[in-house]
Amino acid sequence: MNIRIGQGYDVHAFGEGDHVMIGGVRVPHERGVLAHSDGDVVLHALCDAMLGALALGDIGVHFPPSDQRWKGADSRVFVRHCNELLRERGWCVGNADVTVVCERPKIGPHAQAMREAIAVDLGIDIDAISVKATTSERLGFTGRGEGIAALAACLLVRT
Ligand code: MG
Repeated sequence: MNIRIGQGYDVHAFGEGDHVMIGGVRVPHERGVLAHSDGDVVLHALCDAMLGALALGDIGVHFPPSDQRWKGADSRVFVRHCNELLRERGWCVGNADVTVVCERPKIGPHAQAMREAIAVDLGIDIDAISVKATTSERLGFTGRGEGIAALAACLLVRT
């Protein structure tokens, strides 16, 4: 088989702070997120999609919150590590599609920078990376502004 598919999902609650890391981009906001690492839901969902495509477990297995090494970690390190795991097994990301779910902050103005950061970390063309966003119509925890969620899908192809 020359293709594999994976999906990922991540959530972080808002907490104290003045910015949120989303897709490797520092987005100013009146809240931060509660997390052991930098709490980047886009990159965490993407890592889970990449790992899931090869049935390599999940981000919690590879970067356990109990490990002090990952305290406050830049999640781009996680993405690059997952990419290495794929590449050493003869795979690379063909394309990835991410959806951010939140009422605020607004994602649109930052989506291009997020695509660029992800494309650089994966070593693939920006055209292969999609970052989009939706609100949940003020319903549920994302709708009430209690947290932020992201979903990711990725296709792997043989290198
Ligand atoms: Mg997470």
